[in-house]
Amino acid sequence: MKTKKIVIIGGGFAGLRAFYGLKHHKELDVTIIDKRSKSVEKPSLPEVAFSGKDVSKVLIDLKEIVEHHHGHYINDEVIKINPKLKHIHLKNGAKINFDYLIIATGAYKAFDAIKGFNEFGNSMCDEHHAVKLWEEIKDFKGGNVVIGTAKSVFGTRVKAPQLIAPCEGPIGEAMFMLDYHLRHKNLRDQSTIKVFTPGEIFFEDIGDHVRNKVGGVMQKRDISLHNNKVIVEITKNEIKYEDGTSMPCDLAIIIPPYKTFPLYKDSGLGDEAGFIPTDKTMKHLDYDAIYAVGDINALAQPKLGHIAIHQADIAVSAIMKEIKGEGEIIDFEPNVFCIMNMGGTDATLIYSDHLYNGTNDLAFHSPFAHMMKWGFDSYYFYTKGHMPPDFSMKATEKILSWFKTDKDKFIPFN
Ligand SMILES: Cc1cc2nc3c(=O)[nH]c(=O)nc-3n(C[C@H](O)[C@H](O)[C@H](O)COP(=O)(O)OP(=O)(O)OC[C@H]3O[C@@H](n4cnc5c(N)ncnc54)[C@H](O)[C@@H]3O)c2cc1C
Repeated sequence: MKTKKIVIIGGGFAGLRAFYGLKHHKELDVTIIDKRSKSVEKPSLPEVAFSGKDVSKVLIDLKEIVEHHHGHYINDEVIKINPKLKHIHLKNGAKINFDYLIIATGAYKAFDAIKGFNEFGNSMCDEHHAVKLWEEIKDFKGGNVVIGTAKSVFGTRVKAPQLIAPCEGPIGEAMFMLDYHLRHKNLRDQSTIKVFTPGEIFFEDIGDHVRNKVGGVMQKRDISLHNNKVIVEITKNEIKYEDGTSMPCDLAIIIPPYKTFPLYKDSGLGDEAGFIPTDKTMKHLDYDAIYAVGDINALAQPKLGHIAIHQADIAVSAIMKEIKGEGEIIDFEPNVFCIMNMGGTDATLIYSDHLYNGTNDLAFHSPFAHMMKWGFDSYYFYTKGHMPPDFSMKATEKILSWFKTDKDKFIPFN
């Protein structure tokens, strides 16, 4: 007999992680609802966009895995949530009740907020844009490339860093991978690469140590950086900014503003910007049965898969503690941990808790970092959305702790 009904909206990084965490508890009735039939492994999208990776290698069939693990999968869109009556409405008209709800829908990427994006813009934020961008890049004969992030706005109900560009890591991958591609094709001399950020500083989620290291490589590769640039429009041959300036542009690669879905404002679940405010156990500030994890959670800054996974683990531990009274609730200790591919076998692993007043701010620039990213992507894909085992993260942390004691000696960042 199933005891509690847990519904997860969204089968991306955070939703799948929560599902895998709950599936061990056979007495629970767990459902995933996703408007997509396949989960996208977004950290691999830059490889689709800049080196032509087969897109089928970043998509995971949700029905197959959820049903294999005795969960229920519903392929539909949630259009309304009634937090008081504890039910949700689907686009197909169905109404579903829950005892606990985990919201893991990610953020809404507002391409429509940038005038001219649909005609002249490119991105790598989903598989359709990534495939289209690779088609553009394959045929690109050189010219002015502009790469950057739009400005996002967040609410104030929870105490979290207010990042104006909440996910700039993929911009780092885009500029270095494209530079590599153009050099490889002997097109670099006929091209310029300009990178812009809406922030005072680029990569505002890391500390000066790492930022300076990345900046050094940008200089070496002749990639220029332009701060405080808020994009408003893309035309056939330029990008226009809020301050009235513009840049010539033949190929625009943009991460759009991170916004939210109207559903959260309508249901009274969002903060003033529409993101979901929770406490540090990921429980909604106003509703005990509702949790939010991943990019849609107002505490999730920057918007990173690494943080989405951590939040999913916390929510599962909190729900299980409440249902069974067992275990401990995991502490929320966010940090930036990501691997930035830079073309070929070059990559940089970044580990920083600078944003959270920590002392770690490390960059490990080496083909070894590329191998780790390849290992992660392959593991995630072939195990259908599982994270590598805990010991691999512990081993990585051990290696990083050696670097920490003697940064300059051990980190071959060149
Ligand atoms: C190009 C790119 C590269 C990145 N690289 C890295 C990296 O190297 N490392 C890293 O840590 N992070 C990286 N990130 C960030 C990372 O991908 C996100 O932080 C992560 O995907 C967030 O997970 P999520 O589960 O919150 O949302 P998502 O992964 O976006 O999943 C949300 C799911 O919810 C579903 N959904 C949405 N609304 C509804 C609805 N109303 N009804 C039903 N279903 C719905 C969607 O279909 C989707 O499947 C990258 C992001 C991008 C765009």
